[in-house]
Amino acid sequence: MKAQDGMYIEGTWRPAGGRDTIEVVNPADEQVIGRVPAGSALDVDTAVRAARAALPGWSATPPTERAARLVALRDALVARQDEIAGTVTDELGSPLKFSQAVHVGAPIAVAGSYAELAASYAFVTEVGNSTVYHEPIGVVGAITPWNYPLHQIVAKVAPALAAGCTIVLKPAEDTPLTAQLFAEAVHEAGVPAGVFNLVTGLGPVAGQALAEHPGVDLVSFTGSTAVGRQIGATAGAAVKKVALELGGKSANVILPGADLAKAVNVGVANVMSNSGQTCSAWTRMLVHRDRYAEAVELAAAAAAKYGERIGPVVNAKQQQRVLGYIEQGIAEGARLVAGGPEAPRERGYYVSPTVFADVTPEMTIAQEEIFGPVLSVLAYTDEDDALRIANGTVYGLAGAVWAGDEADAVAFARRMDTGQVDINGGRFNPLAPFGGYKQSGVGRELGAPGLSEFLQTKSLQF
Ligand code: NAD
Repeated sequence: MKAQDGMYIEGTWRPAGGRDTIEVVNPADEQVIGRVPAGSALDVDTAVRAARAALPGWSATPPTERAARLVALRDALVARQDEIAGTVTDELGSPLKFSQAVHVGAPIAVAGSYAELAASYAFVTEVGNSTVYHEPIGVVGAITPWNYPLHQIVAKVAPALAAGCTIVLKPAEDTPLTAQLFAEAVHEAGVPAGVFNLVTGLGPVAGQALAEHPGVDLVSFTGSTAVGRQIGATAGAAVKKVALELGGKSANVILPGADLAKAVNVGVANVMSNSGQTCSAWTRMLVHRDRYAEAVELAAAAAAKYGERIGPVVNAKQQQRVLGYIEQGIAEGARLVAGGPEAPRERGYYVSPTVFADVTPEMTIAQEEIFGPVLSVLAYTDEDDALRIANGTVYGLAGAVWAGDEADAVAFARRMDTGQVDINGGRFNPLAPFGGYKQSGVGRELGAPGLSEFLQTKSLQF
């Protein structure tokens, strides 16, 4: 695609205040594929003012009309799906089929779900002698990461539109072209000028200006826990609502009666998917010690098959970070059974699908989010031990449990401190609430809970 050289503000592409730009690089071949403006605090201010000016009109628009715009947005995304999938592949490096099925398929489903929810949501409820109005929170500052560039945007913008909020989006600097295509789709959907605005730019400049802007009523952030903590502190000081979707270190717990080969193969696929750049990835595999050796062998064989099939990680910095974690795993005494710390290709930011055995719960690679194609396999002695390990990180985003008897898996999952658990390979459901326990975040995205994040209540007593 051709990069836009402006910001989408008040329904049109207008030049940025400054001349700074951000280079967009294809991580598969390290070629520069475009340049977008690096927005300043001034650009953010212009966008927030536009969003504020559009708020009275949009918040008073009947939910059925907002739903109609969301249907049109979904249709516009469908019409552009090949272009968007190609763009995600170019700027993120994911294989085209994955871009089509997941990077574009999931957000189309999510946009459709919010079209339905906007039309059916109970924006006015009764309780006793009160009528409760569920009103839009106001202007939303949305800050998104690069790992699922379209999904992360739609998971915020669609429910915010459904709720009657107006939005300023600051997308990740690595994947701004997908965000520009999204803005085109919003425009084509007939969303009124100023309701959705896009400012591309650097996190510590445009992102921070948006998080700190007094004209923003809610900051909805997805990204690293480090930045999330900072945004939470800024919002706290301003007594401003915040929604945070942060990192994870999810456990894939294989109970003794499970189908081991299936659980391991699906587990490895889950980690390698999107080159390991999935916040909910099951990066720790927990296996009973009696079947541990067998599981390690299966995992190493499964990872080896991914060799040429996974894409690169997003940029050079991320590649160095992931390779550094692999070196640290070796240094701390984990046993490498697949992959390793050498970059497998000369060109492109590739990392070999890597599996570590003999990982203990306190090792760095079992505690910190690596965000690359790296799996740690840990042994447990009994269910209580497995639970202690599963719950033994600061994170609590997702996880999986496999058991011969589904009821056993459910009983274990209910004891896990985590927001989503897949039972015996249950598939990711983009319509179910998603979000973290503990330091994985605050609030929920997707489904009706994802819509209520953007509402506040007013009770009238009679
Ligand atoms: P990041 O936190 O560096 O960046 C995320 C976004 O925040 C980007 O748009 C960036 O420009 C912006 N940003 C950076 N510094 C900022 C600042 N000081 N003020 C305001 N905004 C700022 O994270 P990343 O490297 O883009 O993404 C990887 C991380 O995101 C991983 O830790 C991953 O687990 C997490 N993540 C979480 C979820 C989830 O749903 N929980 C989803 C995707 C990614």
